[in-house]
Amino acid sequence: MQYIILDMEWNQPWPGSYAAKKKLESPIRGEIIQIGAVRVSEDRQVQDEFQILIRPKYYKKLNKKISSLTGLKDAILKEKGVPFPDAVTAFRRWCGEDFIFLTWGFDDIRILKENLVLFHLPTDWCSRWYNAQMIFNAQTDGSSAQKALKTAMEMMNIEPSRPAHDALGDAYHTALICSQLNLKDGVENYGKSLEKHENGFHGATLPDCLERKVYKEFTTKAEAIEAISTTENICPKCQRQMKAQKWLAQPGHRCMARMSCPKCGGFLVRLRIQTEEDGTLRVSKLVYTGDSEASKSYDRMLQMKKTPRRHKRKAKEKVTPAE
Ligand SMILES: [Zn+2]
Repeated sequence: MQYIILDMEWNQPWPGSYAAKKKLESPIRGEIIQIGAVRVSEDRQVQDEFQILIRPKYYKKLNKKISSLTGLKDAILKEKGVPFPDAVTAFRRWCGEDFIFLTWGFDDIRILKENLVLFHLPTDWCSRWYNAQMIFNAQTDGSSAQKALKTAMEMMNIEPSRPAHDALGDAYHTALICSQLNLKDGVENYGKSLEKHENGFHGATLPDCLERKVYKEFTTKAEAIEAISTTENICPKCQRQMKAQKWLAQPGHRCMARMSCPKCGGFLVRLRIQTEEDGTLRVSKLVYTGDSEASKSYDRMLQMKKTPRRHKRKAKEKVTPAE
């Protein structure tokens, strides 16, 4: 058995662009453009490395934020990138048979699976994976917050020796962290760490709340809202694509919107947007039932905004304190 430390970069269409409106056969949150991985043996020795660039098929134009973050350019991907199915074949060959994936965060494997589904490729080979952040927290400060890779490296006195936001660079740094953790123990107690994390960052379960999810590394609020209104707007009951109604701002960097599933009816999504220490955004999403208190308060707020002009004076008195 070996550990494969995996990190990927993916491209997202610019919000509002032609590509962003494109309807894909199955939704993806981003199209993978780079896979980086480092092998760590069972006795935690950092071993060989893998790196491959992918020529995007769906979101061909690199989002300028992603381009400046990763240093990748359209021309480089066009020249050196291979089609995603070929990259997967090469990567799987390199991984071998008996391995466990470790990633820094919850997103990589989810995005990998979305991409595999879109390309009609099997996903069963990436079912054994763990978020190394959870193992790191359990074995260091015991906190439930997700830490940036940079923070974890500082805590372990690891000097960065590779470029950040490069799939292989990030995978290599994650491997250095993992080589100092008790991975066997971390994997065995993963369930407990995960539970602690989930409770820690959302507090107690809220009534009528069906789903909670945290998104990381959005660069702008508009980008986050766009994704959560479209590709990320999946019905918690039947997984169909939902439609977003008007977003209403709330105090404390929060906002909410009603969502409608063609099969299950209405839901309410509430977001809280925070800026992380590395400047990226962290978005916590809660999905409530359509008849929850949260949904009712949305309806009331919307009603106030819609109040006809002839009642304006009266409405204004009401609206002010709520805004
Ligand atoms: Zn549904």
